[in-house]
Amino acid sequence: MPTYLNADLHCHSVVSDGTLTPEALAVRARGKGVDLWALTDHDEIGGLHRARAAAQAQGMAFLTGVEISVTFASETVHIVGLGFDADDPRMADGLNATRGGRGNRAMEMAEQLAQVGIANAYEGALKYVGNPALISRTHFARFLVETGVCKDTSEVFRKYLIEGKPGFVPHRWATLGDAVRWITQGGGVAVIAHPARYRLSANEEFALFSEFKEHGGQAVEVVTGSHSVPEYATYAAMAQDFGLAASRGSDFHSPDESHTDLGDLPALPSSVTPVWELLADRIILPNA
Ligand code: AMP
Ligand code: MN
Ligand code: MN
Ligand code: MN
Repeated sequence: MPTYLNADLHCHSVVSDGTLTPEALAVRARGKGVDLWALTDHDEIGGLHRARAAAQAQGMAFLTGVEISVTFASETVHIVGLGFDADDPRMADGLNATRGGRGNRAMEMAEQLAQVGIANAYEGALKYVGNPALISRTHFARFLVETGVCKDTSEVFRKYLIEGKPGFVPHRWATLGDAVRWITQGGGVAVIAHPARYRLSANEEFALFSEFKEHGGQAVEVVTGSHSVPEYATYAAMAQDFGLAASRGSDFHSPDESHTDLGDLPALPSSVTPVWELLADRIILPNA
């Protein structure tokens, strides 16, 4: 079993809300020293064949990936899947159902923005969309920056598109159990993405971890671009308490927007089991 010193198992391409192609991401990841890479587009696996070929061309080990939107305790939670069979129709069908409704949601978001004087946001957001099935809040955020309404996307996500602010439209995503099953039925490992980002009470967080485990989830992101340094320790301890392996990923979206570049993260704490140790037979080695 090779040791991976720089695994980056979370990032986004133009197939969801990133700004780089799968090929450009692979080149950038390799250039940053990544030696095990996964592409994890939101609710989409349409970039995985391209990503796999690009990883091979770069001589970089590869895992299939996805980041599934889930509704849990009225909050949106993200579950990353790694190492599943990308040709399993149960995954494709499930994601297809989850994506449905994004178009109507986007039109409602634009209506709300129009009411506060921001016209043509739907058309404006669409210009940034690489995949018509996956219009997301990120694409609206880019439009609001382009038009000077906000100076950057983080200002957008303070003033707009979040609960209680203009442009927020609640949405029912997949259930936790369904998301975990789509991943595990295809031989993959399910991972709770960036747990520190959710606005869950301590009881709700305990329920998330417990129910995730009961459904067959096996890992949690510990070192991610979405966590602070103290949060690495908090979730390394949670991983141990719940008997979960740990994952590491930048959550890179764009050279212009992302604070954490591909592979630009500290190592996992030595107390945790790296998730790739559970995925030895699912890793696609270069030249395989
Ligand atoms: P959606 O799936 O349409 O609800 O969009 C969610 C996406 O919005 C996330 O995957 C992020 O890319 C982006 N996002 C959410 N909150 C923030 C934030 N505070 N700062 C920057 N991007 C954010
Ligand atoms: Mn995103
Ligand atoms: Mn996420
Ligand atoms: Mn992400």
